[in-house]
Amino acid sequence: MGSIYLTNKKNVWCPGCGNFAILNALIKALERLNLKPESVVLVSGIGCHGRINQYVNVNSIHVIHGRVLPVATGIKISNNRLTVIGHAGDGDAYAIGLGHLPHAARRNVDLTYIIHNNMIFGLTTGQVTPTTPKGMRTRSTPYGNIENPLNPLLLALVSGATFVARGFAGDIKHLIYLFEEGIKHKGFAFIDVLQPCVTFYNTYSYFRERVYRLEETDYDYTSFKKAIAKATEWGERIPIGIFYKIRRETFEEQLFQLKDKPLVQQEIRINLEKVYKILS
Ligand code: SF4
Repeated sequence: MGSIYLTNKKNVWCPGCGNFAILNALIKALERLNLKPESVVLVSGIGCHGRINQYVNVNSIHVIHGRVLPVATGIKISNNRLTVIGHAGDGDAYAIGLGHLPHAARRNVDLTYIIHNNMIFGLTTGQVTPTTPKGMRTRSTPYGNIENPLNPLLLALVSGATFVARGFAGDIKHLIYLFEEGIKHKGFAFIDVLQPCVTFYNTYSYFRERVYRLEETDYDYTSFKKAIAKATEWGERIPIGIFYKIRRETFEEQLFQLKDKPLVQQEIRINLEKVYKILS
């Protein structure tokens, strides 16, 4: 696939990994939105997904475990004209870095947060994460997982996210649509992607038999109440699509300091003498 958004770096994900669909959908969404590569920043965390920053030809930073959101927020505040996209795994986003999710959501920082949710720690060879199903045997739960999994969509909704969606790596056409809508959304766009890990938890056929697109029903994504109810639907049928989308003032729109121009274009007015005094 030739694209200005793709680097020529050799891809080392396992053949068939759901990460490929997420990468390809992102590339297609960037192409459709016709964003200049230099105007996009990709922040990725620790895990197999984290290598995505080497494959996408935009500005990027690979951060320490669980810290995608604070770094992405800092970048957005420094230069609010940039399009900022955060990628995290389920371990990264829902275990180590969970504390950052409610705050980014309630602040409504204008960025897109894509979770590669394979329900397992893949890079460290198959341990339990907060979204691993109850009862599942993994390398860290040889007798079966005794913990109830977290519902990420409910958490994002009650925290105040203004765009909440779920995709499936086995439905790339739909994923392109979700990424495009999430990037276009003014505010915090949260997209959880069901991403099979073919090596440690291959869920392709499980999800293929169950997922259905909300866009093919008469679902209304502007209703918070309906979104909460829909987010609890998980079993024989699993909805994918946009669960909730509303417009609310973003964090940056409320910062008077950013009214005229981004922080990076402003003159730095600090009294160096005072700074040195404090430091000494
Ligand atoms: Fe993908 Fe799993 Fe392989 Fe990691 S271990 S690259 S998540 S298939």
